[in-house]
Amino acid sequence: MARQTPFVIRLKDRDAEKSEVEGVAVRIDPGSRETGIAITADIAYPLTATPDVIVSRRGLYSLELRHRGSQIRDKMHLRAAYRHRRRSRKTRYRAPRYSNRQRPEGWLPPSLKHRVDTTYSWVRRLQKWAPVTEIHIERTSFDVHALSAGVPLQGIEYQQGTLQGYEVRQYLLEHWRRRCAYCGASGVALQIEHIRPRSRGGSDRLSNLTLACEPCNLAKGSFPVEVFLKGEPRRLARILGQAKAPLRDAAVMNATRWTLWRRLQEFGVPVHSWSGGRTKYNRSRHGLPKTHSLDALAVGDVPDGTVIGGIPTTVLLVSCTGRGTHARTRTDKHGFPRLKLPRTKQFFGYATGDLVTATVPTGKNAGTHVGRVAVRSSGRFNIRGAHGLVQGIHHRHVRLLQRADGYGYARRAEDPQISAPR
Ligand SMILES: [Zn+2]
Repeated sequence: MARQTPFVIRLKDRDAEKSEVEGVAVRIDPGSRETGIAITADIAYPLTATPDVIVSRRGLYSLELRHRGSQIRDKMHLRAAYRHRRRSRKTRYRAPRYSNRQRPEGWLPPSLKHRVDTTYSWVRRLQKWAPVTEIHIERTSFDVHALSAGVPLQGIEYQQGTLQGYEVRQYLLEHWRRRCAYCGASGVALQIEHIRPRSRGGSDRLSNLTLACEPCNLAKGSFPVEVFLKGEPRRLARILGQAKAPLRDAAVMNATRWTLWRRLQEFGVPVHSWSGGRTKYNRSRHGLPKTHSLDALAVGDVPDGTVIGGIPTTVLLVSCTGRGTHARTRTDKHGFPRLKLPRTKQFFGYATGDLVTATVPTGKNAGTHVGRVAVRSSGRFNIRGAHGLVQGIHHRHVRLLQRADGYGYARRAEDPQISAPR
């Protein structure tokens, strides 16, 4: 056994050169809080009837990476506040710093860089453990080419089920910031709306489409927008301007995903990028519910004649926990040192975050506990496992399974209704 979690074994009686290994693909659905990653293999089954071959995309392994961007952001704010306070104290003269405020090209805030780094590092791990031959990543919300910019989109209301319909919807959601154009409502169901009604000669071009909540859509009906917004000239001007704004506006470019895509090129295997519209289209066409792991499975092209079969029954939940802190003091709310922490992070051979098993023979904690350990200098450890927290376990009952690697692990079942392999 090479690793406990994720479970990895190494075959010692042969090596890669002497084996015939089918390649697998890594599919990534990057999100702001969670990133879904799936390992898939497309397997072709010959049939006697037409079509003469059917391709089944089999999900071999799924994991959900839970980022800690908000924690990092909070800590950076706290640090900035401490520094600000320290510098504004009237202690001694400090020359103002102006020359060191330049950020390098491609700089990302630490909370976003962490997303790129952890996703990259998981793909690198998977590449070490499995024969990855290609990487598919959802890089944009919608595909500019699939929209065929400038060409009228014929009767998009009736094309909700098509790939183009999904791309149009994704485009409009980004372009109009997921809000009703007329009242600004967000978090409500939005409908595609013709700014100039079709009954008055309005086209299906993207520049004539917007999003409206149901009440606004009903109220506007087939009025021209100039009549509907007669009392609100500023809103009217904004809507007309926004509709004509070019495709590549700021909201379209997602810096994190593009950085991730560029870094994934380092692995030397083809990296294919796809749109979120296509993922949604694939997912709904194959009747899959929305989870990050299933989204990852549906990233990329699923040609006609391909079924998504064989969905992993369990998903590994990987939460980014960090590796503790360098600071060996705790501060009070003013930033003054309050508590001294121990100089060392290891006690009795264990560090906080190690994956351990403990078999306690007697007492109120009697039994076997598996999980992440939090060490204490007293030798009484806490273990957080699938069944919650157990406290005060003596270190001599504890046995190491895996060293802390900056991640916490758990599992969840994928919906059993859709898990029946085909
Ligand atoms: Zn509205």
